[in-house]
Amino acid sequence: MSETKDEYAFDMMSAAPATSWQHELESLAQIVSGKKVSVLTGAGVSTDSGIPDYRGQGVLRRNPMSIDQFVSDENYRKRYWAGSHQGWSTFASAEPNLGHRALAALEAAGIVSGIVTQNVDGLHRRAGSMHVIDLHGSLDRVVCMECGQRYDRGALATRLSRENPWLDAAEEATLAPDGDADVSDFAELRVPICDVCSGLVKPDVVFFGEVVPFRVYQSAASIVRKSDVLLVAGSSLAVNSGFRLVDVARRSRIPVVIINRGETKADGLAHLRIDAGVSDVLTDLARRLGVHDIVEDIE
Ligand SMILES: [Zn+2]
Repeated sequence: MSETKDEYAFDMMSAAPATSWQHELESLAQIVSGKKVSVLTGAGVSTDSGIPDYRGQGVLRRNPMSIDQFVSDENYRKRYWAGSHQGWSTFASAEPNLGHRALAALEAAGIVSGIVTQNVDGLHRRAGSMHVIDLHGSLDRVVCMECGQRYDRGALATRLSRENPWLDAAEEATLAPDGDADVSDFAELRVPICDVCSGLVKPDVVFFGEVVPFRVYQSAASIVRKSDVLLVAGSSLAVNSGFRLVDVARRSRIPVVIINRGETKADGLAHLRIDAGVSDVLTDLARRLGVHDIVEDIE
């Protein structure tokens, strides 16, 4: 690789310890002012909506189910659907938080040009964001792996409840950010299949071990390339598909700014780094950029 971060005329503000982020906020406001800002979001954007972060503090550490496990073993599918069914009710009732709303307000004000999200919770759209790429799919759809038929998740949840009435009575499970939950009692579960071809169905999300569809990735990379600044919010960038988009910015010499609690894989590439809660920083940023009224309206 011939390009290095030394080619950027970036200062090293990000190296300063973040005891208070108000000073960094001022820098962030200057960087994005008058610019087209692409945004890459991760689980840290949705924690304030009650959806946990895999890598956050106090969270059960476990690996998500792989696509190979799901496809090859009925027991895995039973466990997945039992857990995912419980997780779905929490996801379906989660509300966008001030971070989502601030991003929607910034888009309405012409500052944010598009959002690429690693989250599968649909909360950006529900907050009013118009230009959203679901990099890892969306939990509110279910797709047949054989014929491609798509189903509404709410309707499928109703069917699962009807066919497995004991499921809704099970004790509340620990929710994971992919909408899965840890359940122990799933042996009796009737796994849903496709009405059209009887094939396997799965939530329309990218499972561990699957790749982001090429066209989705291209759309996401295009949003980044056409922007002046890439803002990463609430992601440690541990997942490769997210980190690759930071690399797209780097190759296009687009400055990268990061808001995240804790370290990220791209800290060394960041023009500015704010170690703080996403909702707080984005709400203050929106105010500082003069979309104050929009943010006030939704509070
Ligand atoms: Zn089918």
